[in-house]
Amino acid sequence: MEFRDQEIAIEIGKQGELRHRKVSYPLLVGTYHKITLPGYVFFYDLKGDIKYIRGLGRDWPHPSEWLKRSKGGCWVYYFSGRYTEDLFDYLGEYYLPCFAYQSNSLWRVDPFAEESVQRALAAWEEVPGLLEQHLGKKGPSPIRDLVLRIGERGREALQESARELLRINGDEVRVLPPDTRHVDYEVLPLFIAEGCLYDCAFCRVKSGRSFQSRSRENVRGQLRELENLLGEEKANLNAVFLGQDDALHAGTELVTDAAEMALQSLRGSPLGDRYVFLFGSVDSLLAAEDKLWRNLAELPCRTYVNIGLESGDQDTLDRLGKPLRAELVREAFSRMLDLNECYANLEVSANFLLDPGLPSDHWAELERLLREVAVRPRSKGSIYLSPMRGGRKREHMRLFQPLKMRSRLPLYLYLIQRL
Ligand code: SF4
Repeated sequence: MEFRDQEIAIEIGKQGELRHRKVSYPLLVGTYHKITLPGYVFFYDLKGDIKYIRGLGRDWPHPSEWLKRSKGGCWVYYFSGRYTEDLFDYLGEYYLPCFAYQSNSLWRVDPFAEESVQRALAAWEEVPGLLEQHLGKKGPSPIRDLVLRIGERGREALQESARELLRINGDEVRVLPPDTRHVDYEVLPLFIAEGCLYDCAFCRVKSGRSFQSRSRENVRGQLRELENLLGEEKANLNAVFLGQDDALHAGTELVTDAAEMALQSLRGSPLGDRYVFLFGSVDSLLAAEDKLWRNLAELPCRTYVNIGLESGDQDTLDRLGKPLRAELVREAFSRMLDLNECYANLEVSANFLLDPGLPSDHWAELERLLREVAVRPRSKGSIYLSPMRGGRKREHMRLFQPLKMRSRLPLYLYLIQRL
């Protein structure tokens, strides 16, 4: 339904794309409501929560850039590169996500410091009042209902939803697996375990807890509560993140059951394709039974397991405070290659660290691993290099680019992104 009055346009239940695609313009996936006012276009999800904002004025930084509010309540600015940056080469995506929180980005762009972006972030809160003032009792009742609903979903209601999500999961999602970029980080977060096996000194995202699986009842209860929290908006999801730091270690039964339960819960979504994402570790990858891989490969979805390898060089691992033997890291790397070869629906990816201060043997070993694979380049099993603390892009690129050119596996940067 559409309603127009002078400079105002309200469109209810607009159908966007049914699949996530990698394009260099703002792509809206799923069903949403759109409100166009002088200067801005606002997009709302099916609950009436603000989701995207794009400025229409000449002061807006770029016509194909926009703001998105994540499920965890963080604003992300999508930076296009503005014709000077080949972002796709670095990230595997056309946009650089910019955050209002500290991350490990190498780009010094800070859209949140721009006045027009700050104005947009303030403008969405004025939308219900402006519409009330302008429309009064005009417009058909679905339009008035929407105006009422978005009025109820103001800043406080959104903060309350973010708190509720935290309560349900029992922890915040401090970092999402890099492969969730394939669904623009739109995932249902279902925690099946918390904590991890190592307590790496370099890690900025660890919970500090030792590993513990959740019970099946806990996972089921969480899912029920997530369904309630999402309401109608669940229809716009086709992916699940099985949290948290080493969900793979939760074992064959729990991983399989949780993935099945979550996929079942998302069955009503009209979106095409289904995805399951999770993190694993060297130990959980090497200990996982063949049955787990077979189960994951048989799910009606594409499953991505991301493993933190960090380095294949012992001296580097020791300096990082990662309590692992380099032989095991190399064994895990080979296992990853085998699994990617074996199962069409399953993709195991790996992370290594990127920092100019790391020893030369780290780079030599990484290059050896990236070239160790079969002679032909492979399209599966991305390798992500994670800048340790951000810093100078040029220094990092001096290390990244030669590896990218020589790698027989897809190689990208990995930025720390919360839910
Ligand atoms: S890098 Fe992974 S395994 Fe190490 S402390 Fe951080 S979350 Fe845990």
